[in-house]
Amino acid sequence: MAVRVCERLRPLLKTSHLSPISFVRKAAIAKAKYGGRHTVTMLPGGGIGPELMAYVKEVFRFAGVPVDFETVSIDPQSEGNEDLEYAITSIRRNGVCIKGNIETKSLTAGVQSRNVAIRSELDLFVSVLHCKSYPGVRCRHKGIDVILVRQNTEGEYAMLEHESVSGVVESMKVVTAENAERVARYGFEYAKKLGRKKVTTIHKANIMKLSDGLFLETSRKVAKDYPNIQHNDMIIDNCCMQLVSNPHQFDVMIMTNLYGAIVSNVVCGLVGGAGLISGINYGDHYAVFEPGTRNTGTAIAGKNIANPIAMLSASVDMLEHLGFHYHATNIRKAIEYTINEDRLHTLDLGGTSSSTDIVHNVLKRIEKLTEGHNWMGKSY
Ligand code: ATP
Repeated sequence: MAVRVCERLRPLLKTSHLSPISFVRKAAIAKAKYGGRHTVTMLPGGGIGPELMAYVKEVFRFAGVPVDFETVSIDPQSEGNEDLEYAITSIRRNGVCIKGNIETKSLTAGVQSRNVAIRSELDLFVSVLHCKSYPGVRCRHKGIDVILVRQNTEGEYAMLEHESVSGVVESMKVVTAENAERVARYGFEYAKKLGRKKVTTIHKANIMKLSDGLFLETSRKVAKDYPNIQHNDMIIDNCCMQLVSNPHQFDVMIMTNLYGAIVSNVVCGLVGGAGLISGINYGDHYAVFEPGTRNTGTAIAGKNIANPIAMLSASVDMLEHLGFHYHATNIRKAIEYTINEDRLHTLDLGGTSSSTDIVHNVLKRIEKLTEGHNWMGKSY
């Protein structure tokens, strides 16, 4: 058993020869560009994923976005890994991917989540969520604007579990100095780039003294390179309480994998739920865009009630990453008008609009915004 665990740890511990700050747009450079068009991988995933992807395609077609999709469907029931391997090869080729959540049905030990496998295989070491309130969405707190920077490939998601003796199960949380540094540096660089003032490291180093201790110590060390950014830290349980009572104290937050999953859901819940906020997975070579809370939404699939905004926002993030700023700005503005001015909201936000009502309104808004311009944004 011990040998098998060590073997499985090896990929997590492999060292990168790239500079830890190679992230800023030098990272994840899109490769598949032919005649001014980009090809990106689309993984619709399960549940509401396929219908949300259809909306993305509809919006892109309408807005004349020069992006082609290579769609790869992954069957959650399949025993083998062929479709997963094909998906990973496609992302390697295209450099960029938009994805829905791929359901992991099996509770059998050793059956890996395909979402986790994609992130690990492509070394997408960091996940970034920009959680910002929409003024048109009624929530307990107004004006939230928090950036979450989450370690994305190790920690509690190492999936190294075994039953050492009958009735005793051990689960390994893996923190490596290298990945802790990459994430911390990413967080501080991101804060610097956006002119943010404060970075908070979230941890449980009072209990997990070695693993979270290393994560915290590493971020403290990295913080010394950014004297103009205030750095503090907070224990995860207090962090959840502070988030719901006074979220405005947070600016940029850095955390390990599982705390990231929890905090993302708390903050997305504070600004309106699972259907609004997008998330980006970055590595040194690839970028994968998806809804921030990574839900499958199986129960609401096919009912025309899913909120399409998180996936549309993920597609806008992707356009910005690809450098299609004109299209990205128009679609983002159309989304904001739809939510804030036209006040069209789906059920999850307390509204009565269907998914397609929202998408059609976004199209109408794009039409207004682009009147008198050609597809490259030049007026005629
Ligand atoms: P799963 O294994 O299905 O991903 P989960 O617990 O991670 O389970 P879901 O059940 O898929 O998450 O989603 C959590 C909640 O968020 C559900 O109530 C779901 O209906 C809701 N939800 C997720 N995505 C959306 C969306 N785009 N629009 C509206 N509601 C959504």
